[in-house]
Amino acid sequence: MSRITLSHGAGGSIMQKLIKDQIIRYLGGSSAEVPLEALDDSAIINDIVLKSDSHTVKPLFFPGGDIGRLAVSGTVNDIAVMGAEPIALTSAFVLEEGFLVSDFERILKSMSETCKQAGVHVITGDTKVVEKGALDKFIVNTSGIGKRTNALEHNISVVKKHRSFNARWLLDSNLKPGDKIIASGTMGDHGIAVLSFRDGYDFGVKILSDVKPLNYMIADLLKIGGIVKIKDPTRGGLSNVLNEWSEKSRVGIIIAEEKVPVKEGVIAACEMLGIDYMEIGNEGKIIVAVVKELAEDILSEIRQHPEGKDAEIIGEVTDQFTGVVLETIIGGRRLLTPPLGDPVPRIC
Ligand code: MG
Repeated sequence: MSRITLSHGAGGSIMQKLIKDQIIRYLGGSSAEVPLEALDDSAIINDIVLKSDSHTVKPLFFPGGDIGRLAVSGTVNDIAVMGAEPIALTSAFVLEEGFLVSDFERILKSMSETCKQAGVHVITGDTKVVEKGALDKFIVNTSGIGKRTNALEHNISVVKKHRSFNARWLLDSNLKPGDKIIASGTMGDHGIAVLSFRDGYDFGVKILSDVKPLNYMIADLLKIGGIVKIKDPTRGGLSNVLNEWSEKSRVGIIIAEEKVPVKEGVIAACEMLGIDYMEIGNEGKIIVAVVKELAEDILSEIRQHPEGKDAEIIGEVTDQFTGVVLETIIGGRRLLTPPLGDPVPRIC
């Protein structure tokens, strides 16, 4: 009898297999423009972008954020990276009997503040309580819808000036050789912030989670144009994003390790724990694939935003091979294989 393990929820290839073998097998088969089986950041039907996200982070409050901020940001960002404008959220709570009302209030306040930052409201929801011991304190599901905008139309028209492009949205399958890859900031901050706080590690410097809604920054980028896909490197980190793009677009991606922004404290933590920062989740960063002619313009626009000040062009798409290759700092090349799961469980 096989049983569910934490790896089945960790965002890597073990989770992908469960989704394909079980969830899509029974729930796939819609005629949505971007259906369940596309496994993109959101689905799209009748030009409505739809996303659902459950959050089980442990602990509920961590340096730089909390589960409420995470829930709103995660859903908003998954809608925005499709090129859509988030317009409304739902919020469903499952509470464990005995949970402090003051903690619930703290989470709700944080959700409210994050909604204001993102310019969205929660417009419907649900609340359930289970017996003590039936779950670990608190789970929240946020779903959201988004709509098509003039900024997306403009963005696509700019892409078409430079290369062939027949998608109507920003999809994982849109990359072509020559496109450039940009990281909006330092990798691994969220996962290391939660892990070090939860397990009481002292890595010398305090790392804060980057959790943040990024829809306004993304809207500004679309106004410039030339973007073929954006993705938020959450569970499985940068490595997961690049491997999904490589597989779905059937292209190779080459990344210069020295260009990937990462904090010293995150590198130190990863070395101590024997994990790879490229596989660690972020909640306030985007990876952008853009036609090469607009890469510098998009990079400077990202850097105008405080959350994008460390942005770098980290690599490009190639037809020389398939998969993801890392040019290492010491001058070698290695294959960046898809992570089995996020090395840090329960961070979102
Ligand atoms: Mg995503």
